[in-house]
Amino acid sequence: MRDNYKTADQQNMTEGKDTILVIDDEKAVLDCCCQVLDKNGYRTETSEDGVSGLQKIREIKPDLVLVDLKMPGMSGMELLEKIRDIDPNIVAVVITGYATIESAVEAMKRNAYDFLPKPFTPDQLRIVTRRGLERRRLALKSARLQQEKEKMRENFITLVSHQLRSPLVSIRQYFEVILEGFAGEVASKQKEMIKEASKRIDELLKLVNDWLNMSRIEADNLVEKFEPVALPAVLSETIELLKPLAEVRKVTLETDFCDSPSVVQGNKEALKQAFTNLVSNAINYNIEGGTVTVSTKEEHNHLVAEVSDTGIGISQENLHFIFDEFFRVKTKETRGVTGSGLGLPIAKRIIEAHNGSIKVVSRPYKGTTFAILLPKVDLRGTPAKSTSCATT
Ligand code: ADP
Repeated sequence: MRDNYKTADQQNMTEGKDTILVIDDEKAVLDCCCQVLDKNGYRTETSEDGVSGLQKIREIKPDLVLVDLKMPGMSGMELLEKIRDIDPNIVAVVITGYATIESAVEAMKRNAYDFLPKPFTPDQLRIVTRRGLERRRLALKSARLQQEKEKMRENFITLVSHQLRSPLVSIRQYFEVILEGFAGEVASKQKEMIKEASKRIDELLKLVNDWLNMSRIEADNLVEKFEPVALPAVLSETIELLKPLAEVRKVTLETDFCDSPSVVQGNKEALKQAFTNLVSNAINYNIEGGTVTVSTKEEHNHLVAEVSDTGIGISQENLHFIFDEFFRVKTKETRGVTGSGLGLPIAKRIIEAHNGSIKVVSRPYKGTTFAILLPKVDLRGTPAKSTSCATT
């Protein structure tokens, strides 16, 4: 992104003026544009063909380029794409004597911001230029804000992991050492209290870890590790990990996977994290002797994974908020379950980064079903045809 900004020297060259490059093979158009634009306080440069125009764009990094569509050699259309590659924030305005809907659409697709049909008046040129430069200012401002936001996010992650997480981990370790008796004999009453304190530290660590996970989930990072993923395989691994929790909670885990040749294009570890959050909730917010059923099916162009439980359910009123960060239902049934209120927002972010969606239906004291819809692809990664599948 930094390369897109002008260097100090380039900035001085323009003396604070916006630089406009006009590329047209008609000398009369170049002269006319320069006269109007110079008078309005812009710095102008000209080129009579695409190749030299491109060279100038690289050298002076103009704020706005006026490009003739029809030129011998490199055409305006070709030039538009090259301008975008050099700097997507350079605003390109197309000058053309043959404006058709098709050429307009084509030029817009290739990064043109506006059109100036020949012959144009000085006023039309001024208006289009002013509008284009305003758009550039906004684009640069937004890029700067985006950079600042990214920096703050990185700082936040560093702060949370070093300043918060590390001391908690070391306190936890000290407690372990004391409980093991390595620091001298500990009375049973003291042991109980230290165990209770350890439990609280664990809860705090879970919160901090969830918080970190939440901040780290960025669609772009996840996409980097996309591969074809078979949903039943990921779900089976998730269930395997959660079997001990289900045993403690006296909840039965069942599966009902459909036998499909389709897969989803995804980040396996991230998907596992999303399903872990859903299945562990289905266990934690269940009743003793309850059941959690994890199933898959095909629906049109999607593979659907469902996590269904026979637990305490969620009221209609609370259902609206469960994907909000830090939201937790506070009832006598949920009092015994520790959590951060970040499990569902994390799952939702991950699923949406996979172009999927997550739906929930719930009835208090009957149970809850979360359905995760993900676009299905064949093993080569291309969108799979709509088929149905047999359940295993
Ligand atoms: P938590 O860490 O509190 O579990 P989540 O974001 O995972 O945070 O869930 C938010 C809230 O939604 C939970 O506190 C709980 O009240 C409710 N919830 C989530 N899943 C279920 C479920 N399967 N059954 C009943 N309530 C649920």
